[in-house]
Amino acid sequence: MFIFVLCVFSLGAVQEAQWFKIETSRFTVYFKGKETLFPQKVARQAESDNSRLWREWGYEESARTDQVKYGIYLFDNRKDYLDATGRSEWSQSAASYGDFRRIAGRRDSKTFLKSELPHEIGHLLFREMLGAASQSLPAWIDEGVALMSESGKRKRFENVLRDAIQSGKAFPLAQLNLIRKPNDLDKESLLIFYAESWSFVDFLTERFGKDRFIRFCKSLVKNGNLDLALAEISSGTYPTAQSIEKQWKYSIPKKPVQL
Ligand SMILES: [Zn+2]
Repeated sequence: MFIFVLCVFSLGAVQEAQWFKIETSRFTVYFKGKETLFPQKVARQAESDNSRLWREWGYEESARTDQVKYGIYLFDNRKDYLDATGRSEWSQSAASYGDFRRIAGRRDSKTFLKSELPHEIGHLLFREMLGAASQSLPAWIDEGVALMSESGKRKRFENVLRDAIQSGKAFPLAQLNLIRKPNDLDKESLLIFYAESWSFVDFLTERFGKDRFIRFCKSLVKNGNLDLALAEISSGTYPTAQSIEKQWKYSIPKKPVQL
């Protein structure tokens, strides 16, 4: 299941008065109708994902300076979701980063709690962690980090990426770094983009630690120089982006992983 977003939407047509809401310390869950069981599950899961992700990134959530709550809008079905967000047909969920930080999703999605919710929270939290640097984050980092916030992606993405490398369809790292609008890619390339983004973020954070990965992101945004940022994160162990790319692609299992 993939989430085709990059990731701004507007809810201009939505009247907040039409919605019921559940407040938690970090989230407001908006929903319609009388059925509250699922919205309550969403509220609990959102708080749990939020705490987990701050912890996984090595931050004390209590030290968070920005106290703005995130809104989660649960639309009843696909049509209502697409009408309100203007997203493409394939979109399952979206996040908005403006003054109002919002997540939009569908309550009829069977994967919302496991996939879409942690994915979109991952987008929002990482942008908060990076601060101003997040404004011009390359798309592969933005999506790679959000995909890592979900669980259970490894086997499928490793298979996709291994096949792409073997068939010559994988993006060279320099090209991956230049992709600004993944949604403009064709379906096959978009899947490879997601798999590569997840895989390279996973490789860098595993190999060098999340703290250094965040410094890498800030350096990349500040200087716009991938080679320099990679040399910094690896402390010179790998002198060039090409040598890191080689190590990364070498680390992908050579045989299909059983799903
Ligand atoms: Zn995303």
